[in-house]
Amino acid sequence: MTPEKKHILKHIYFILVITVISAILFVYPDFVSYPTVGLKGLIYKFLHWILTCIPLFLIIYLLSIHKYLFAIFMPLLTLTGVTIGYYSYFYKAALTPMIVDATLNNDLGTSLDMITPFQIIITIICVALSVGTVIYRFKRIVVNKQIIHFAIAGVIFTLIFSINDRVSNSFNQHFPVSLYYNLNEYRKLNKNRHLSRINPEPGINYLQNEELNIVFIIGESLRANNLSINGYQRSTTPLLSARKNVISFKNIFSEYTYTNPSVAHILTRADSVHANRAKTEKSFITTFNSCGFYTVWLANQDAAITYYPFMMECDTLIYARPEKSVYTYSDWLDEDLFPSFDQTLNRPEKAKLIILHTIGSHWYYNSHYSDDFSQFTPVTRSKIISQNTAEEIINSYDNSVLYTDFFINSIIEKLQHTNSVVIYLSDHGEALGEDGNWLHANDNEHLKNPACLIWYSDAYRIKNPEKILAISQNQNLKFRTDYLYHSILSAGNIPSKIIDESLNIFSTK
Ligand SMILES: [Zn+2]
Repeated sequence: MTPEKKHILKHIYFILVITVISAILFVYPDFVSYPTVGLKGLIYKFLHWILTCIPLFLIIYLLSIHKYLFAIFMPLLTLTGVTIGYYSYFYKAALTPMIVDATLNNDLGTSLDMITPFQIIITIICVALSVGTVIYRFKRIVVNKQIIHFAIAGVIFTLIFSINDRVSNSFNQHFPVSLYYNLNEYRKLNKNRHLSRINPEPGINYLQNEELNIVFIIGESLRANNLSINGYQRSTTPLLSARKNVISFKNIFSEYTYTNPSVAHILTRADSVHANRAKTEKSFITTFNSCGFYTVWLANQDAAITYYPFMMECDTLIYARPEKSVYTYSDWLDEDLFPSFDQTLNRPEKAKLIILHTIGSHWYYNSHYSDDFSQFTPVTRSKIISQNTAEEIINSYDNSVLYTDFFINSIIEKLQHTNSVVIYLSDHGEALGEDGNWLHANDNEHLKNPACLIWYSDAYRIKNPEKILAISQNQNLKFRTDYLYHSILSAGNIPSKIIDESLNIFSTK
């Protein structure tokens, strides 16, 4: 073997050994709670893990080409990798734009409080090992024709990111690309937030100075026809069905079938003719602010560029689980919103607009309900749709509906003796096998019929009898989700001049 060939082989082994160790320590923790069934599932999981490690291999290859590049960046890559891997393994936490925000904007003391002695020991060992690889790179690895290696790495990098969106998205969710991706998402969120939007009702002259809570729950993937309150054969809403003052609007139509455009549409004056208002106008939150309401957004979902500006219109924004993403397959429950909801209710302001953005019935369903709600069995055991039966998927989905019944009912219980209205509207529905479709973001009638429920307290009924009469008369009418903007202003007794009465469910038709 020629000395040149020996150098190349040694270089390849060097990159492979470091990649395998890094892939196990920094990327595999994301796959520990990834549910699959049997040998086929294990092979699928293994291949997915290998696929997501390709960018890691390329970055280590790129760094290894030049010894000084490797000396500076390999310990840094290790430090970030071990931190992300540690939180993923021990806390089932993902890097998200909200975590980036918390890390950059919290004081350093709060961030340091999270660090444990065990984490410090693991970090020191890993960084020491990476320093060892740097010394080895200086002493034993020879890389000739470096420019060709840089070109090869660059071309492969470009190629793998142009395979398709699914593959790129998979890279974006895991180390090391997740680092760049989430920093960039955080930057985009903040950039978008500063774009000016039109206030659709400036100078409104009204001050709500009596006690009134308007609670808007944004649901997730809850289709109207899987609720027993709407006639579904399974008892999926036992608590809400037994409760008085609950009205279900089962004929709501959603134009959009996935979260990002739908939530922006719902919160603004956008309609089928003026869909662009979701991008140019402020939401109803600004009008509530102008009328003396304390406004708060309690989030149990990621922020997205389409609706982040509206979250920022609120006086307060609280993330219940900023470390969760839909790619972490562990408990992520809406009851985590209760502590901040309770704190909000205890605040001194009399009038409040409280928005709860729930994770509801988002796939992977089992992650979004606790064991007590696993009443319909057997449930799914794999995140790969084809590994589950239709019965298992529907059972898991219905258990998540049962959990949402508990969640909404718990919010209502906290408001029973106050002057309050709760409006629940899911962002879209879900496909459960109809025409071979599952989940959402495709085209299916069940995706366009989201669940919608209204609850009012006795105090609210006594003060607003005409509104209660109207919602009981209107409950079977058909409305687009456009109704929400006009109806929530009406529920808050805001004398808005831009309410379209034909879309106001709180006015008699
Ligand atoms: Zn959604």
